[in-house]
Amino acid sequence: MEKTYESNFISNEIETDLKEGKYKEVVTRFPPEPNGYLHIGHLRAISLNFEMAKIYNGKTNLRFDDTNPTKEDIEYVNAIKEDIEWLGYKWENLYWASSYFDELYERAVLLIRKGLAYVDDQNAEEISRTRGTLTEPGIESPYRNRSIEENLDLFERMKNKEFPEGSKVLRAKIDMKSPNINLRDPVLYRITYAKHHNTGDKWCIYPMYDYAHPISDAIEGITHSLCSLEFEDHRPLYDWFVRECEMNNSPRQIEFGKLLLSNTILSKRNLRKLVEDKIVKGWDDPRLATFCGLRRRGFTSDALKEFVFDTSVSKSNGTVDYRQLEYYIRDHLKLTTPRTMAVVNPLKVVITNYPEGKVEYLEEPINKEVEDMGIRKIPFSREIYIEREDFMENPIPKYYRLYPGNEVRLFYAYFIKCTDVIKNEDGSIKEIHATYDPKTKSGTGFKGRKVKGTIHWVDASHNMPCEMRLYDHLTIENDETKDLPVFDKLNPKSLEVYQGYIEEALKEVKPYDRFQFTRNGYFMVDPKDTDDDKIVFNRIVPLKSSFKINKK
Ligand code: ATP
Ligand code: MG
Repeated sequence: MEKTYESNFISNEIETDLKEGKYKEVVTRFPPEPNGYLHIGHLRAISLNFEMAKIYNGKTNLRFDDTNPTKEDIEYVNAIKEDIEWLGYKWENLYWASSYFDELYERAVLLIRKGLAYVDDQNAEEISRTRGTLTEPGIESPYRNRSIEENLDLFERMKNKEFPEGSKVLRAKIDMKSPNINLRDPVLYRITYAKHHNTGDKWCIYPMYDYAHPISDAIEGITHSLCSLEFEDHRPLYDWFVRECEMNNSPRQIEFGKLLLSNTILSKRNLRKLVEDKIVKGWDDPRLATFCGLRRRGFTSDALKEFVFDTSVSKSNGTVDYRQLEYYIRDHLKLTTPRTMAVVNPLKVVITNYPEGKVEYLEEPINKEVEDMGIRKIPFSREIYIEREDFMENPIPKYYRLYPGNEVRLFYAYFIKCTDVIKNEDGSIKEIHATYDPKTKSGTGFKGRKVKGTIHWVDASHNMPCEMRLYDHLTIENDETKDLPVFDKLNPKSLEVYQGYIEEALKEVKPYDRFQFTRNGYFMVDPKDTDDDKIVFNRIVPLKSSFKINKK
C-alpha cells in the first residue's frame, strides 16, 4: 500500500459518519485563496483533504476561494495548481468560489426575507468598535431593525452599484450578546469596486469568507470540510449559514492544528515582505519553505509527504523542527542518488613525486549500497583540488586532516603527505605541495601504517567547474506571531556561494539531477540558473545531523 496517514482523530470521525450513514461518500476540498504561494504548512491541509478522501474512496475538489479581487492574481492560481500537481494529487473538479456568486446572492436574499440579515450603514470602524470584547457584549446597530422590504431594496441597490465603497454592508442578524464574537452579526457582503478576474465588472459586492465558504462547501456536496484550527470558533457560524440558507447538503467542518516549521518564515505577510524587499531572490528562492522554493532546492515531493504523514495530526498547532524534514529528504536520497566527489571551496595540491602527464582512472561503485547503479571512473593525476578547510597551516589540537608534515588518505586513491605551503604575495595560501606513496593505493590492502584523516578531492585537470550554493536556515530564531521586521533574526549565512569543481563524469548533468557529494551532502542541479555556460548546484541538505528521530 502507498504510504498515507495512520488513523487519527479526523479519520476516526469520518469513519463514524460513514458507519452511521450520515454521509454515503467522502467529498473534501482544498480551498486556497489565490493571494500568495503555498508553503510547507499548507501541505498538512492539502494532504489531509486528499488523503482522507483517498482512504475512503472519495473525491477532492480544488476550489479557489477568489472572493477578494483586490488581493488575488492569476500568477498565484497557476503556481498553486503546479504545486498540487507536483505533490502528485489529482483534484476531481476545479471550482471557483466566484462561480457561486449568483447563488450566494440569492441565498443572502433568502436570509433577508427570513429576517435574518440587514443592511447596515455603519462604517467598518463603527462596526468593529461596537462588536464588544470577550468580556463585554456588542452593541446593536441603529440599522438593525430595518424592515425586510427596506433591506431587500437596499441590498439590491448595493448590487446595482448605487452606493460608494464602504458606505454599506450586509450583516447577518444573529446575536450581539453571543459569547462567541463570530456570531455578533457578522458581515456577509461588502462593497468593493474592483474588477474580478472571473466575473469582471459584474459585481461590486463581494461575499466575506465566513459566508462564502460554508455555502460553497454545501453547493459542491462537500461532506468533510477540513481546515486549520483558527476556524474552530467559526464553526457555529458555518453551521448557522448552512442551516438558515436551507442548503440541501450539510457539510461538517473538522479543524486540525496548523503545521509550522522551525527556523523559517511561513506567514504570507512576511514571505511577501522578504520577496518584495529583495531579501530573498523570489518566491522560489531555495531558502524559502514555499513548495517552489523546496522544489528548486531539491526536495522531493515523496519525502515531503512522508514527512507530513509522520507528524502528529492533533487539535493543536505545532512547530516541527526543520531537522526532522531534513531527515526525511536524506533518507529518501540515500539510495536513489549517485555518489561522487566535489570540492566546494578549492585549494590546489601538487603531488610533486607523481609523474607529470600521467593519468590514472580509479574505479568505484556509483553507490556502494546500490549495486546496479554500476561503477564510475575517477581520474587522478599530479594536481588535485581539496577542500580549503581540509588544510590548516597551524593545526588546532585533534585536527587530523592535512597540515605540514602530516599524512592523510585521499578517498579511493593514495596517502599524501604535505611537504610545503606555497603563498601568494599577500601571504594567503596559493597551493600545497605534497608527496604520495604509491604503495598505499586504495584497494591494494596496504597495512604498513595508518592515517587518521581521509579527505575528498577532485582532479585539477579533469573536472567541471561549477557554482555551489550552500543554504542554511533562513532564520536563527522565529516567532511567526510577530510582524517583520524580524530581520535581526534572519541568518546572515543562509546562503554562501562558492566556485568549486565536480568530477569529470558529471559533465552532462541536467537540471534537477541529484547527487551525494562525499562529505559535503546532497546537491541538485539548479533548474533556473544553470545554462550551457554554467552549472549551478544547490545543496539540498548536508550529510550529517546529530538529530535522531524515531520513524514510524
Ligand atoms: P491567509 O493568512 O492569507 O488566509 P493561509 O495560509 O490561511 O493565508 P489560504 O489560502 O487561506 O492561506 O489557505 C488554504 C488552506 O490552508 C486553509 O484552509 C488553511 O486552513 C490551510 N492552512 C494554511 N496554513 C496552514 C498551516 N500552516 N498548516 C495547516 N494548514 C494550513
Ligand atoms: Mg486563510
